Amino acid sequence: MLTVVDNQRPQLAADDKRPHAIVIGSGFGGLAAAVRMGARGYRVTVLERLDEFGGRAGVIQQDGFTFDRGPTIVTAPHLFEELWTLCGKRMQDDVEMLRLKPFYKLRFDDGDMIACSDDSDAMEAEVRRVNADDLPGYRRFMKLSDEIMALGFEQLADQPFSTVTDMLRIAPDLLRLQGYRSVFGLVSAHVKHPKLRTMLSFHPLLIGGNPLSAPAIYCLIPSLERRWGVHYPQGGVSQIVDGLVKLIRGQGNLAVTRSEVAAITITDGKVSGVRLSDGTRLDADIVISNADPAVTSALLPNGQRQAKRLVKSRYSMGLVVLYFGTKRRYDDVGHHTILLGPRYEGLLNDIFKRRPLTEDFSLYLHRPSASDPSVAPSGCDAFYALTPVPHLGADIDWQEATARRRDAIVERLSSTLLPGLRDEIVTEAIAVPDDFAERYLSPYGSGFSLEPILTQSAWFRPHNRSDAAEHLYLVGAGTHPGAGLPGVISSARMLDRMVPDAVAFKR
Ligand SMILES: Cc1cc2nc3c(=O)[nH]c(=O)nc-3n(C[C@H](O)[C@H](O)[C@H](O)COP(=O)(O)OP(=O)(O)OC[C@H]3O[C@@H](n4cnc5c(N)ncnc54)[C@H](O)[C@@H]3O)c2cc1C
Repeated sequence: MLTVVDNQRPQLAADDKRPHAIVIGSGFGGLAAAVRMGARGYRVTVLERLDEFGGRAGVIQQDGFTFDRGPTIVTAPHLFEELWTLCGKRMQDDVEMLRLKPFYKLRFDDGDMIACSDDSDAMEAEVRRVNADDLPGYRRFMKLSDEIMALGFEQLADQPFSTVTDMLRIAPDLLRLQGYRSVFGLVSAHVKHPKLRTMLSFHPLLIGGNPLSAPAIYCLIPSLERRWGVHYPQGGVSQIVDGLVKLIRGQGNLAVTRSEVAAITITDGKVSGVRLSDGTRLDADIVISNADPAVTSALLPNGQRQAKRLVKSRYSMGLVVLYFGTKRRYDDVGHHTILLGPRYEGLLNDIFKRRPLTEDFSLYLHRPSASDPSVAPSGCDAFYALTPVPHLGADIDWQEATARRRDAIVERLSSTLLPGLRDEIVTEAIAVPDDFAERYLSPYGSGFSLEPILTQSAWFRPHNRSDAAEHLYLVGAGTHPGAGLPGVISSARMLDRMVPDAVAFKR
C-alpha cells in the first residue's frame, strides 16, 4: 500500500505494478498532467522544489489575510471541471466557483470607468456612450472574436504542434482570420476611440503578451470571457490547487514539496528517471516537466546548448505585485479593476522594448474581499496591485527600485480608488522580477515565461513532446499553447494525444 504523508520521500510501493510517471513541478500545468496520467493508469509522483504546491498560483497567509500570489481571473472553468470528472468526482464538491458580474472595470486616467461583462446590451451601451460611431465596428469585432475563438480553442489550443504539417494544417484559417496581425492592429481596424481600442486589446497582458505584437489569435479572449464568464473560487485560486492535490492523492498517487529535480536521466535515447538535488534517484517510464523549458533543457545530460538557445528567446515582461491588507473596507471598489495610466502604446513600447523603469504605469487591482469575507479579518480588505515592468534584461536595480515603485503604487491608489491608503495598510508583501527569477527559476524573472509572439507560438513554441528524448513531455506556460490558466491546463490536455497507454509499459 502507498501511504501518503506530506513531504514523505517518494518511495516505490512493492505491490504497485502501474508504470511510473514523474511530474517535475506543481504549477497548474503539472498538477493537471498528474491528474490526467493518474486517470490513464499511471502511478504518479509530483516533485515540487518549493514548500507549497501551485507554482505561480501559490498563496501568502499573513496576519489573518489570504493573498493569492498569482492568477486571480479564472476563465474557461470547464477545463478544470474536466479534471474532476476524469476522477469520477465533481469540482463543486471541493471548490465553490462564483461567476463575477461585472467581470472587471477599466478605469481610465481621466477617471472614466467602463464595466465589462457578458451583458451584450450593457456592453453596447458603454460603447455608444464612449463613441457611438464605433458601435458597428465593435459588433464586427466581437463576431470576429467568436470565429477566432472557434479556431483558437478547437484547433490551436487543443492540438499538439509536433510537426510542421500541424502548422500548415491551420495556416489557411489563420490567414483568413488575420492571425498574422497584432491584437492592437486588428482591434484598431474595427474601432477608432482610444478607450475602446484599449478595452478590446489589453488582454494579452494577462498572459505576458504585448498587445502591440501578440498575434491576433489572442483576440479570442473577449469571446472566451463572454461565453464562459470570469470566475472566482471562494477562498482564492489556491482552493483549486488544493483540490487538484487532493485528486492526485485520491488516485493513490504522490505529491511532495521540497523535492528539487537536479537531473533527468536518459538511457538509450529514452527517459529513465530523475535525480533529486539530495542525490536520490527515481526510475520512471515517463517524465513530464512543468519547469520552464530552459530549466528543463538544463536538466538533460546534453541540454546546456538548447538551454542557452532558449534563454536567447523573447521573454514576457516582469511584474511587481504588492500584496496588502487594510484595516478598513473600501466597499465601492469592485473585485477586479484595471487602472490605466496616461499612456497606452507608449508605455507598452517602454515595458517590452525600450525597457526603462517609467514614472507612469498601469495597475491591475485585485480585491477578493469584495466577494469573499474569508480572505480578510472582519472589517478589513485584502488586495493585490500588479504592475507590468520590464524583465531583468533591463538595466534596473530592484534592490533600489522596489521601495520607490511600492510608494508610487500606494500614492497612485490613494489618489484614485483607495483614499487615505497610506495610513490604512496593516500588512504587506511585495514580489519583483528578482523574486520571480529566484522563486520560479523564471528566465529574466519574467512573469509568464516566453513572450507570446507569432514566431514563438504553436509549432515555434517548445513542443509538448520533447525532441530530446523519448517519453519526455513538457507542460506549462513556456510550452504550447502558452501562459494563463486555460493555456497551461490545455498543455496538459495535449498529453492524452501523445503519451502511450499505460498498458504499453506493463511489466
Ligand atoms: C502575478 C500573476 C498573475 C497572473 N494572473 C493570471 C490570471 O488572472 N489568470 C490567468 O489565467 N493567468 C494568470 N497568470 C498566469 C498563470 O498564473 C500562469 O501562466 C500559470 O499559473 C503557470 O503555470 P505553469 O503550469 O506554467 O507552472 P508554474 O506556476 O510556472 O510552476 C512551475 C513549478 O515548477 C517548479 N519547478 C521548477 N523547476 C523544478 C525542479 N527542477 N524540480 C522541482 N520543481 C521544479 C517550480 O517551483 C514551480 O512550482 C498570472 C501569473 C502571475 C505571475
